[in-house]
Amino acid sequence: MAASLVEYGVGGSALCPVCGLAAKNLSILASHLVERAEVSDGSHVMWLNRNMSKHRLSAEELERLLVAALAGDGPSNEVVKR
Ligand SMILES: [Zn+2]
Repeated sequence: MAASLVEYGVGGSALCPVCGLAAKNLSILASHLVERAEVSDGSHVMWLNRNMSKHRLSAEELERLLVAALAGDGPSNEVVKR
C-alpha cells in the first residue's frame, strides 16, 4: 500500500517525499510538487510520474490524488463532522 507515500514531521507537517521540505498541509505540498515539476526538477518529476500521474497535474488535482492515496491506507476520518 501507499503507507509511506507521504511522511509526517514534527507538528504534523507533511514532508515532501523527494526533498524533505516540510509543508503545513497537503495542499501546500501539492503546490510545491507541481512547482518543482514545472521547472523540470528531475527528481520531483520522476516521483510524480512514478507515484501519481504521467500527465501534468494542477495543484488541485494533485492534492486530490494525495488525499485519496493516503485515505486508501485506512478508514478516512478527515471529513468526519459532528
Ligand atoms: Zn520537494
